[in-house]
Amino acid sequence: MSEINRVRDDICRVGASLFNRGLTAGSSGNISVRLSDGGWLMTPTNASLGALDPDRLSLFDASGTLLSGDAPTKEAFLHFSMYGERADAGAVVHLHSSHATAVSILRDVDPQDALPALTAYYVMRIGRLPLVPYFAPGDPNLAHAVKALASRHHAVLLANHGPVVAGASLVNAQYAMEELEETAKLFLMLQNHVLRTLTPEQVADLRQRFHLA
Ligand SMILES: [Zn+2]
Repeated sequence: MSEINRVRDDICRVGASLFNRGLTAGSSGNISVRLSDGGWLMTPTNASLGALDPDRLSLFDASGTLLSGDAPTKEAFLHFSMYGERADAGAVVHLHSSHATAVSILRDVDPQDALPALTAYYVMRIGRLPLVPYFAPGDPNLAHAVKALASRHHAVLLANHGPVVAGASLVNAQYAMEELEETAKLFLMLQNHVLRTLTPEQVADLRQRFHLA
C-alpha cells in the first residue's frame, strides 16, 4: 500500500477509535499527519471523527495549498501553528475531550502548567501543559498564542475549548492525547482530596532517565 493510502486509513481508524470511546463528540475534533513529501492529510470541516471517508480527507502540498478532498477543518490553523514551530511533529490531534476540557474551565488552574505530575506516564508523554487564553473561534490571536508556545511545548490546553497535542507519529500523538485525557480525569476525581503528586526531584529524575526535553 502506498504511504498516502496507509495514512488515509490510519487517520480514519484512529478517528473512529477516539470517537467510539467518547473522546470527542459530534463533528468536534480533528487530526492531521505530515507526509514524507512535506504535505499533509487533515480531517475535513463538518466531519465526524467516527465516520471519516478516506477519499475525502483534505490533502495539502508542502506549501499548504489544498490539492484534493473536502475543505479542511476550520481549526486547520491549530495544526499549522504546531507544524510551523515543530520540525519534529509528524502528526497533530485536537479534541474537545470532556475531562481535559473541564480542566481548561477551572478558574484556578495554573496557566503555566494546567495539570500536576500525577503519574510518571503523564510526565513522560506530556510533561508541561500550558493553558492558552480563551479566544473566540476564528480569532487570529488564537493562532498567535498557540505559535508562541508550540516551539517549547508539544501539548497545549486551549481555555474553555480543549487540548492540542503533536507527536512524532500519529500513534505517538494519539497515545499522548489519551494520557492527557486520563490524567485530567484523575485530577477531577481527586478534587477535594489532598494529593501526593510526584515531587520536583522525581519529575527531574524522569526527565533525565528518559531524555525528555
Ligand atoms: Zn476545537
